[in-house]
Amino acid sequence: MEKGIIFDRKEFAVFDGPGIRQTVFLKGCPLRCSWCHNPEGLCMQPQLMVSHASCTHCGRCAAVCTHEKCVACGACVPVCPLGLRKIAGEFLTSGELARRILADAGYYSRYGGITFSGGEPLMQADFLAEVLEMLPGLHKAVETSGYCEPDVFRRIVGLLDYVIMDIKLFDGEKHRRYTGADNRRILENAEYLCGGRKPFLIRIPVIPGVNDDEENFRSTAAFLAGAEALERVEFLPYHQTAGAKYGMLGLEYRPDFDADAGIRICRSVFSEYGIPTEVL
Ligand code: SF4
Ligand code: SF4
Repeated sequence: MEKGIIFDRKEFAVFDGPGIRQTVFLKGCPLRCSWCHNPEGLCMQPQLMVSHASCTHCGRCAAVCTHEKCVACGACVPVCPLGLRKIAGEFLTSGELARRILADAGYYSRYGGITFSGGEPLMQADFLAEVLEMLPGLHKAVETSGYCEPDVFRRIVGLLDYVIMDIKLFDGEKHRRYTGADNRRILENAEYLCGGRKPFLIRIPVIPGVNDDEENFRSTAAFLAGAEALERVEFLPYHQTAGAKYGMLGLEYRPDFDADAGIRICRSVFSEYGIPTEVL
């Protein structure tokens, strides 16, 4: 049985696919988007998170720590009287995760389903595939960057009912600059969805000065035009609170763009191509 690592489970999610959903967040992502607001989803190891702002410096956490450098052992988590410390990341087998999901499955099978998000859930494709196969009768979706080998993408899509995928930037050079990776595989995987029958939704995180120009919207709309299984395009406006969790991980948030600038969302470009849109 495959082992995987998750960092959260969210109940009653209403923006992660059709109906009301349970969302499971898998840890690990091959991209490094400048605007990422879930930095605890990036690496595939457990990490200590601390809400420093409310710390009273009582010293209880330091008193129980036996390590020079944090190894995310979790020993200091229960001793904090204010509950300011937590470990993001839990290893478990596919069977254990499926059992937890199935414990609440009655509600979600009636009103929505289960969505796997991240991080990048397809980075743990073997683990994810085993979990998906253990959830018969549940509506299953992923939220993915689409950054993976096409055969991996097709295998996982074949086990799903619905796909939510990002197309962050159409221009390959800009994509590499702002996410750390080329977008060729992403566009190849998006093309597969466009040519198929699996219902899917495209999301565009709209980042000031990065991808909020008409050329980017127009290229993306032209690429998606005519895709029969495409439900709509959703825009996710950039929020200035995106950097909030970096400090909890001991990291600095240094976005490579003007995070204070306003954004432009050209919904009209997509309507020219007959594609419905929504701003979240
Ligand atoms: S999780 Fe806490 S106790 Fe464990 S190594 Fe890190 S700081 Fe020390
Ligand atoms: S135990 Fe909690 S309140 Fe006390 S020093 Fe550690 S983080 Fe701060």
